[in-house]
Order: sequence, then C-alpha cells, then structure tokens
Amino acid sequence: MSGSLLTAIDTVVLDMDGTLLDLYFDQRLWLELLPRRYAALRGMPLAAAEIEVRERLQAERGTLAWYCMDHWSREFGLDVPALEGELEHLIMVRPGTEAFLNHLAGRGIRSVLATNAHPASLARKLRCTGLGRYFDDVVSAHEFGAPKEVRAFWERLTARLGIEPSRALFVDDNLAVLQSAAAFGIRHVWGVRTPNSRGPAISHDGFPGVDYLSELLAV
Ligand SMILES: [Mg+2]
Repeated sequence: MSGSLLTAIDTVVLDMDGTLLDLYFDQRLWLELLPRRYAALRGMPLAAAEIEVRERLQAERGTLAWYCMDHWSREFGLDVPALEGELEHLIMVRPGTEAFLNHLAGRGIRSVLATNAHPASLARKLRCTGLGRYFDDVVSAHEFGAPKEVRAFWERLTARLGIEPSRALFVDDNLAVLQSAAAFGIRHVWGVRTPNSRGPAISHDGFPGVDYLSELLAV
C-alpha cells in the first residue's frame, strides 16, 4: 500500500554524505583536490600521488580514523579543513531531500541525522545547506567513539536517543553500514542507489533502494 512504510515507524535515521547530500563533493575532495595538493607538496607525479592517497585511504576504510580530518591532515601534511573550504560551493542537497524532511516534520516523525563525518565537517555542511533545522537530533559517530559500521555505534545511538529499533527507518549509501544497522536490529533499512550525481548507480545486496529520499513517501 502506498505510503505504508511511514506508518510503521516513529523515527527516521539518515546518513549525511551521499544520502542527504551529493557525494560528488567528497569525491572531488578526496580523490582529486587532495592528491593534487599532496603531489605538489611532495614534488611527485600526480598519478603516483593518486595511487598513494587511494591506498592509504583504503587501508583505513570503515574505521573512525578514516572519517577524521585531523588524522588525514597529519597523515598527508595538508590542511584538510582548508581544502574542504575551497570546495564549499560543491556542497549540494540531493533532490528530494527537503521534500522528505518536510513531510516527516508534518507527520510528527522524529528525524535524526547520524553521520560518520568529523564534527567540523558536519558543522560546515549544515551551515552551507541549512538542513540542521529539519532534525530533532544531529549525531556524529565521533561522539560515540565508534563508526556506524560497528555495533557499538547502534547500541549507543539507540540508548542515548531512546530509539525503538523495530519502529525505526534507516537510510545510508554504504553497504557495510546498512549491514551493521540491520544486524543490530534496525527494522527498516534502505540504501541510496545514486549517492554521487556524477557517479554510477550502485546496488546494496539484500537491501531495498531508492535514488532519492522523497521516493520513500510512496513506499
Ligand atoms: Mg554516506
């Protein structure tokens, strides 16, 4: 039945990068601007810098350090927050995000933003987009000392905010995070198929997906 998903829940937990916001910003930062500046800093060819940056990022994927700008500023000898600032014009709200959040507010459904992003990056993105006004709670995994990929994150999030997992909807663009949320017991777990407006569509094995959040209003 159309619209029945939202009658089965009282809390929506939403990822930020790739779910509320276009992941293109993050791609440009981590896979283009940072390698370019690292190559200049080290006096090395761009292609070599791109490989080194990719490999070093990959080695820590899924850990809290991977999401920590202070960590990468130290690792690469670059001011990552300053690089973010250079690309601020690319921080974009994805189509359908505000329509979905407005609908939740109108129905009195609690909305929670839960991100692995560093608190400074989170603050920048909320300032640039104004999305903070839609949320009852905004949480960075750094507060809990565990990323969303880890069960402890979900234990701490649900305990602190009093979330009933069987009546919660969670949406994210990261398969490992979807699996972690589902394994913990979040009942309704959905993936985003098109997190990067200029990247390929992706599928999340075993999880239903949408391109845009507003599509959930018709589920
Ligand atoms: Mg994401």
